[in-house]
Amino acid sequence: MDKTSSAPRIVIVGGGAGGLPLATRLGKKLGKKGRAHITLVDSNTIHVWKPRFHEVATGSIDSELDALDYRGHARLNHYSFEPGRLTGVDRDSKEIVLAPLLDNDDREVLPERRMPYDHLVLAIGSHGNDFNTPGVRQHCLFLDTRAQADRFHDRFLNTCLAANFADKPVSIAIVGAGATGVELAAELHHAVAMLHRYGHKQLNRQRLHVHLIEAGPRILPALTERVSLAAHHRLEELGVEVYTNTQVTEARADGFVTADGRHIEADLLVWAAGIQAPAVLSTLGLETNRVNQLVVEPTLQASGESHIWVIGDCASFIPTPGARPLPPRAQTAQQMATLLAASFKQVLDGKAPLTFSYRDRGSLVSLSKYSSVGSLMGNLKGGHWFIEGWLARTMYISLYRFHQAALYGWPRTVLLLVMGRFNRLVRPRLKLH
Ligand SMILES: Cc1cc2nc3c(=O)[nH]c(=O)nc-3n(C[C@H](O)[C@H](O)[C@H](O)COP(=O)(O)OP(=O)(O)OC[C@H]3O[C@@H](n4cnc5c(N)ncnc54)[C@H](O)[C@@H]3O)c2cc1C
Repeated sequence: MDKTSSAPRIVIVGGGAGGLPLATRLGKKLGKKGRAHITLVDSNTIHVWKPRFHEVATGSIDSELDALDYRGHARLNHYSFEPGRLTGVDRDSKEIVLAPLLDNDDREVLPERRMPYDHLVLAIGSHGNDFNTPGVRQHCLFLDTRAQADRFHDRFLNTCLAANFADKPVSIAIVGAGATGVELAAELHHAVAMLHRYGHKQLNRQRLHVHLIEAGPRILPALTERVSLAAHHRLEELGVEVYTNTQVTEARADGFVTADGRHIEADLLVWAAGIQAPAVLSTLGLETNRVNQLVVEPTLQASGESHIWVIGDCASFIPTPGARPLPPRAQTAQQMATLLAASFKQVLDGKAPLTFSYRDRGSLVSLSKYSSVGSLMGNLKGGHWFIEGWLARTMYISLYRFHQAALYGWPRTVLLLVMGRFNRLVRPRLKLH
């Protein structure tokens, strides 16, 4: 600590797909040698990779078993961890402000705190955008945080329990047919098949009605048309009812109302459409876009601010003038984290920061154990390669393994994989509580 006391303080707020690999890399590169003091701040004390939230929601993975404990990880990787929720940044005094930390009974554990920084990295992600649609906040489930995914899991299990008891079908309506909605729709089918196996004899996949509602003309609008068509076809084979060109105008306790006057009834309502960065970002006096993302320079510095850097979903990075901002994806956050880790080394050596260029490596969508589809970017001609089935599934799973390897290194990742296999021998295939 003595060695680092005069070293620059790099504070990273948000330990998700971008912030956590960045803290890990900086801790190993700079923190270990005492060249910088790295602190990670997150409103949670454990990390679960967000692209797996739909699996947490259905019980396909146990968020406790797959979680990383920030404090333990920090000790192994030469950075510090501070629990807290960012509520403001004092840019004059170069301090962040963290809300009082409360326990589950709303008792204050820590008061409001201020933490100084020399460089601040904002990596606080995004959440669903309800576009001010009436009833959505009151009646819909979201999958933006682990707590919401756990809550979904509880509601899903209880709905299935009640339907099995009453010998009734279960109906679930999902708004938004991006990757989250599509993957969730397929995962729900798998979960109900498992529940049948674990004793819900009146409930089976034929009695599960999943409605997937999309305002645009096709599902997976950000992916290629071929991937979209293949996923649409597979979902219909599973029995998912897909509605395209369907605008939801209201959420009610018992279903969604659409612009063309339909009422899509459901026991559970899920909102997985659009994204919005946390509102706190629009209070910092920095340039934001209409969904609160901070506009960044090619160096990932917030526009007009040399000591604040922004990565992941909360950054609006426009690759070329007039182009759309980069999509909110794990690969975007990871690539930004990799660039910034290298860039900080330059900056601390008194050199200019590096500039970011995004490389689209393609996209993969998992339809649970039933199928996977996606496209990879070809290196030579820059075209898309359509992939499906076993290869797509293997590549999809490897994305998570690469994330783990960035956090634990490959030997520990292999160990985790082996432990996961053993767990499958002694635990149910679905989290049942
Ligand atoms: C169900 C689901 C499936 C997805 N599937 C895919 C996929 O297959 N492929 C893909 O590329 N992308 C996928 N995504 C999108 C992907 O998860 C995000 O693009 C990615 O996680 C963004 O990384 P990030 O670091 O910007 O934010 P996150 O990973 O969301 O991390 C943000 C972190 O900031 C913390 N935080 C938030 N607010 C505060 C605050 N005020 N103070 C302190 N800490 C705060 C949060 O606790 C969190 O740890 C999926 C998303 C969901 C929800």
